[in-house]
Amino acid sequence: MRRSRAFIPTAKEAPSDATLPSHKFLIRGGFINQQGAGLYNFMPLGKIVLEKIRTIVKEELDLAGCSEVQLSFVTPISLWERSGRCEAMGKEMLRIKDRHENEFVLSPTNEEAMVELVKNRVTSYKDLPLNLYQINTKFRDEARPRYGLLRGREFLMKDGYSFHSSIEDMVREFNLMEETYKKIFTRLGLDFRVVAADSGAIGGDGSKEFHVLADSGEDTIIVCESCDYGANIETIDEFKDKIDELNEKSYEDLKELKVAQKCSCGANLHFKKGIEVGHIFQLGTKYSAALEANFSDENGRSKPFEMATFGIGVSRLVAAVIEQNHDENGCIWTKATAPYMVNIMISNIKDVNQVNLGEELYEKLQDSHVEVMLDDGKERFGFKMKDAELIGFPYTVIIGKELEGGLVQIYDRRTKENTAINVSQVYDKIMELI
Ligand code: ATP
Ligand code: MG
Repeated sequence: MRRSRAFIPTAKEAPSDATLPSHKFLIRGGFINQQGAGLYNFMPLGKIVLEKIRTIVKEELDLAGCSEVQLSFVTPISLWERSGRCEAMGKEMLRIKDRHENEFVLSPTNEEAMVELVKNRVTSYKDLPLNLYQINTKFRDEARPRYGLLRGREFLMKDGYSFHSSIEDMVREFNLMEETYKKIFTRLGLDFRVVAADSGAIGGDGSKEFHVLADSGEDTIIVCESCDYGANIETIDEFKDKIDELNEKSYEDLKELKVAQKCSCGANLHFKKGIEVGHIFQLGTKYSAALEANFSDENGRSKPFEMATFGIGVSRLVAAVIEQNHDENGCIWTKATAPYMVNIMISNIKDVNQVNLGEELYEKLQDSHVEVMLDDGKERFGFKMKDAELIGFPYTVIIGKELEGGLVQIYDRRTKENTAINVSQVYDKIMELI
C-alpha cells in the first residue's frame, strides 16, 4: 500500500476518556474510531489486524477438527425463554421488536441458537462428536463500556460449541481446545496464562480462562513463579471476600501483597493482572436438557448431548496485543499481528534517487508477498518518523541523505535500533528479518 493512497487518519491527541495505551494508540494511529459508547468502526489498519487474528483463530480451529458456521445475529426471544436465560441475561441482552411486534435479541452469546441448529439434525451417537464455531458480532449492553476495544458493547467473538455422547468425550475435547487456544495465543506472540476459573454449579476443572498478562488488566489472577499453574482469584477461598477490592488495585499495589497459599508444586504464588481473552467451559447437559436436544445412544436410549463451550474475544485481542506491546510513542505489533511488516520511508520525496530506490524496493518486496507500506507522502521526515512509531510497523527502511554514500537505515520498532546497511543488501536483510 502507498501511504499517499491509504486512509490512515492519525491524530496527535487521544479522546479524553482514553486512559489505556491500547485505547489511545489505536485511535491516534487511525486503526479504529468511536461511533458511540462501546461501538467502534475499524478503519483499514484496524481491519487488517482484526482479520489477521481471525485467520489464525480459524486456521488452528479447523486443524483441530472444528467446523465454521455463521448464525443469524438477531435471535427470536422465544429461544431464550425456553432455555430460561432471559432473566439471567438481564439488561445486557438488547431486546428489539419488529414491525409485527415480534421480539428479538441481538445475540450476546449463542448456546441456545447452536443447540437449536443441531437438534433433530444430529440424532445418533454415530454423528458425534461435533464441534461448531462462528466468528461473529456479539452485542452486550455492558453497564460500563470502556477501555476501547477491551470492553465494547458490540464486539467480535469466536464462539464454539461441542456436542458429545459422553462426559469423557466432552472432557477430551475440552483438553484439545485448551491446547488449541495455547497454539493460537502463542502464534499471536502473546505472553499469556491459562488459569482455573469459576465454573459455578458445574465445579471441578470445568472452566478455564486465558489471560494476556498486562498491568492494565481488569482481572486479578495468581500465578506460580515456578510451574505453569494459575488461577483467577474468584476461585480461591482466601480471596473470596476481597475480589472487588483486589480487582481495583493496580499491579504496582498488588506487587506489595503476599499470597499466603503455596502452589501444589511448593513454589510461591504471585498476583498478576490479566486481560481475559479466552474462556472454555464444560457445560454438561444444561442447555441440551432445557431445549430437549437429544440423541440416541448405542442401546437406542434417548439422551441429551453432553456439551462444552469455547470463546475467544477476537476484537479484544487487538487491544490486548497493544496493552502488552507498546511504549510511550505508540504501538509495537507482534510479527503475527502487524498490519504491515515493513514501512519504506522516503525521507525527501523531491529527491529522485530516494524515490527510485523506494519504488524499486517496494515492488521487489511486494513481488515476494511481503506486507509493505511505501511512505511516499509529502510530509517532513520528523512527522513521518513519529507516525511510523505510533502505527508500530516492525521495521522501517529509512531512505535518507546517506543514500549518497550508498547506505540506508533499517529501524527496528521494538529495540529502537537503527542499522546502516548497503543498498545492495537491504532486500536480503529484510527477508532475513521478517
Ligand atoms: P468479562 O468477564 O470480561 O466480561 P465474560 O466472562 O463475560 O467476559 P465470556 O462470556 O466468557 O465473557 O465471552 C468470551 C470472550 O469474549 C471473553 O473471554 C472475552 O475475551 C470476550 N468478551 C466478553 N465481553 C466482551 C466485551 N464487552 N468486549 C470485548 N470482548 C468481550
Ligand atoms: Mg468469561
